[in-house]
Amino acid sequence: MKFEESVWNSLLSIVKNTLISAIGYSRHLSLGKVGNLLLLATSFQLSRIIKKPIMWGKPTTLSIEPTTSCNLRCPECPSGLRAFSRPTGMLDEQLFDRIIQQSKRSLTWLHLYFQGEPFLHPNFSKLVSLAHREGIFTSTSTNAHYLDEKRTEEILSSGLSQLIVSMDGISQEIYQQYRIGGNLEKVQQGLHLLLAKRKERNQLFPRVVLQFLVTGQNEHQIPDLKAWAEAMDVDELQLKTTQIYDYEHGSELIPTDTRYARYIPTGDGKWKLKKKLENKCWRMWQGAVVTWDGRVVPCCFDKDAKHVMGNLRSQKLETIWKSEVYDQFRSQLLADRSQIEICKNCTE
Ligand code: SF4
Repeated sequence: MKFEESVWNSLLSIVKNTLISAIGYSRHLSLGKVGNLLLLATSFQLSRIIKKPIMWGKPTTLSIEPTTSCNLRCPECPSGLRAFSRPTGMLDEQLFDRIIQQSKRSLTWLHLYFQGEPFLHPNFSKLVSLAHREGIFTSTSTNAHYLDEKRTEEILSSGLSQLIVSMDGISQEIYQQYRIGGNLEKVQQGLHLLLAKRKERNQLFPRVVLQFLVTGQNEHQIPDLKAWAEAMDVDELQLKTTQIYDYEHGSELIPTDTRYARYIPTGDGKWKLKKKLENKCWRMWQGAVVTWDGRVVPCCFDKDAKHVMGNLRSQKLETIWKSEVYDQFRSQLLADRSQIEICKNCTE
């Protein structure tokens, strides 16, 4: 195939997949949800101008954690390192149902993932189905070690809108350097099975996103990865930058190609964030993250739940969302984001 022809085919495929995803997302919208989004955007912009938090809307996105358990041992993940100070457990289905009932009129995106491997939840597909029945766009992230015949059938029947598969290497040797304990063959077989069954069933969803966390150890595999993803016919390939906890003194996980890094060298042997920290954060105005035991935390950077805004076991989502604690957090962000530990290492 000529070079121009292959570029043209890639472009066509990107346009087609973007269109399908956009149509899938918009099918879950309603006038109320769009109106709420406008209220959130207006509150955010006004808050930035007057430097005081205003909140007129309700969360348009939520990330809910099915479980903190994980089968792998990834080095930059507290779940993998078993380093949480918070307890490990499974999301209770009744609690999940209550959260969905409270948020379904405003929610445009539900990410069923925070820490841990979602497919370890015994009723994961049931959780997806419940949210799907309530008209919510659902997404999840997996290390794809559990995509067997039964799970694949269940997930295809659940109404899941998007499945993100993490695969950070194209050979077992490189893959296992970050995904410690992982089996690349299993991931690739699972992905292949899911895509084949989706085709067999004539389904367009879930859209399958292959996510590659670029590190110094795997960046040389990007060309091979692109060729593999094209041959597999995944819907989208995402090259994601890696968050490093202790980045100031450098790390072998930081890629040499700084296009794929969140950090750049300062010139004196140290490293700093590539992006300038600004005293704003749209995430604080659009959605929240919920741990398996109902705690509401500001965002996915608060992995160990250090900034708990409230608990959905005993409080309503709207009460927490508009609470004094949340307001104080948003105020601090607008005043000086560098004073919040989790925000210092964030590229938002
Ligand atoms: S870490 Fe701070 S700045 Fe980053 S998304 Fe979370 S709240 Fe926003």
